[in-house]
Amino acid sequence: MYDVTSKCADDFINHEEILETLAYADENCRNIKMIDALIEKAKLRKGLSHRESSVLLACDIPEKNEEIFRLAEQIKKDFYGNRIVMFAPLYLSNYCVNGCTYCPYHLKNKHIARKQLTQEDIRREVIALQDMGHKRLALEAGEDPVRNTMEYYLECIKTIYSIKHKNGAIRRVNINIAATTVDNYRLLKEAGIGTYILFQETYHKESYLALHPTGPKHDYNYHTEAMDRAMEGGIDDVGLGVLFGLDKYRYEFAGLLMHAEHLEAAVGVGPHTISVPRLKRADDIDPDQFDNGIDDDIFAKLVACIRISVPYTGMIISTRESQKTRERVLHLGISQISGASRTSVGGYCEPEPEDEKSEQFDVSDTRTLDEVVRWLMEMDYIPSFCTACYREGRTGDRFMSLCKSGQIQNCCHPNALMTLKEYLMDYASPATKAIGDKLIEREVLNVPNPKARAVVLENLRLIEQDNRRDFRF
Ligand code: SAM
Repeated sequence: MYDVTSKCADDFINHEEILETLAYADENCRNIKMIDALIEKAKLRKGLSHRESSVLLACDIPEKNEEIFRLAEQIKKDFYGNRIVMFAPLYLSNYCVNGCTYCPYHLKNKHIARKQLTQEDIRREVIALQDMGHKRLALEAGEDPVRNTMEYYLECIKTIYSIKHKNGAIRRVNINIAATTVDNYRLLKEAGIGTYILFQETYHKESYLALHPTGPKHDYNYHTEAMDRAMEGGIDDVGLGVLFGLDKYRYEFAGLLMHAEHLEAAVGVGPHTISVPRLKRADDIDPDQFDNGIDDDIFAKLVACIRISVPYTGMIISTRESQKTRERVLHLGISQISGASRTSVGGYCEPEPEDEKSEQFDVSDTRTLDEVVRWLMEMDYIPSFCTACYREGRTGDRFMSLCKSGQIQNCCHPNALMTLKEYLMDYASPATKAIGDKLIEREVLNVPNPKARAVVLENLRLIEQDNRRDFRF
């Protein structure tokens, strides 16, 4: 039985409810009266239910789709302005005991090089990341209870936060590791992680069981209920995601929104972010062997529908996507992107030798961080290296209240400008710096509160003239 507040995955991601939702969407996808009413409802910026959004996702009327895209763009502007938060993944280990059929880390893959970073390796990698200008990392690892222990992760996090190289610092560490226990989530929280990220891969239980035939990840319910445990352990910023390409995208979309509704209903806080990865070619993995790949048009529609359904949830797109695809969807609702990523275990400090490749998947956007930052600014986005919310305790529902209070423009906007200024001073090429300085000059005028604006101007001066760093609201 579908029960949004139940703690059991089979109830809050109820298969029958998803099938009924898809049938309802099929029935109504050309019902103009209903579609108009749903678009009007979405304009209130309070989101839509999984049933409502599924109707819009299924709608194939070009003019209505245009309206959906326009609304997504407007909501993105209202909630996130033109800021795009930057991050990089750091792969700690690709040892894995699972049998995931789409992932090159699967246990039976004998030709991928297996590696685990030592604390000394981490130091070198983090210095390389700091020297690019990164301030925010997403730690990634395979699941191996013997090698990749919680003690190992905690030590890695401590090492990363301790490294201060020149003006560099990693100020927020997010982590994407296998589902674990409430006690372990509590330890991660105490270690100072930002967001706990775990992709569902697929919400379709039967497919999930087939795609994860062996290893601890085979347990669908344990995996799907991980965010409830994470929140019980005190982590209130959690990141959801589906690996698009594994099962039918409309099923996944409904499941994803049901998961968000469940967290809101059962714990009182929705997901902090949603990621939208698509399956990629990788060592031992041919994406063409999976039948459910989605094209760029559907991908854009998914991003737009997620944006209008959960306006307060950040949306992340990685370097799995090309510059062209990223350009197409950024304005539809993306708030965070990675740049200059390596999906190998190590590889930031120096490239991996050809015969020792450990990558998780092929990266499509291979530009440097400087190029990505310049590209964003040329499109009038503000690349932001801000990590203030979590460091000021604005996580979970406190972050949501900031969004709802309309104070974002007096808070996030200045933080974006000040952290961009740091980046320009410390890491940017002269061409990037020239564009950035002009952008900051223009954008500072968009801080509505005159007092806040004066503080920002003074801080920008201190960053430039006194080499001061880490100002935040
Ligand atoms: N071990 C963790 C777990 O059990 O969830 C996850 C960490 S894994 C390094 C990060 C994510 O990469 C996975 O959750 C999966 O969605 C994604 N991934 C795996 N294989 C992929 C592929 N071939 N193409 C794109 N993304 C992939």
